[in-house]
Amino acid sequence: MSLTLNRKHLDAINHHAERTYPDECCGLLIGRLTETGRVVSEIWTTENTWTQEVADEMGDGLLASKTRRYWIAPQEMLAVMKAARQQGLEIVGIYHSHPDHWAIPSECDRRLAWPQYSYLIVSVVQGKVINAQSWALDDHHQFQSETLHALECPRMRRESLIPNA
Ligand SMILES: [Zn+2]
Repeated sequence: MSLTLNRKHLDAINHHAERTYPDECCGLLIGRLTETGRVVSEIWTTENTWTQEVADEMGDGLLASKTRRYWIAPQEMLAVMKAARQQGLEIVGIYHSHPDHWAIPSECDRRLAWPQYSYLIVSVVQGKVINAQSWALDDHHQFQSETLHALECPRMRRESLIPNA
């Protein structure tokens, strides 16, 4: 499988990750599932709502901090899912950042992951995004990396060809 998005989507995610540093940022990838992979048509920025309460619920007491964890409110996810469906789209993935860490899923990421989604992780080092990697669960609930295609936005490319008026 692969994850395809536009350069502008990736730019928006990077910007979100840098803005929330040193906390993790998170959001939803909305699009379509195709034969070759998941194709993103828009991104939905969400609040990182990780709290001590969520940590306790997840049995993850001591490391509970937004610098190491993220949480998307289930009711927001449901609302976005419904809105996407009305446009013939679906949630195809979740993105989040790893401040001062590699773009590799943590054990917590793995435990909480759903098999139907791509998990895009961006690594932010000292406030700057250095790379991104997409992951998806295999049949054994283990993450495998997947190809990340970042397409140039066609509209932006056309506009750049128009000489200055
Ligand atoms: Zn993570």
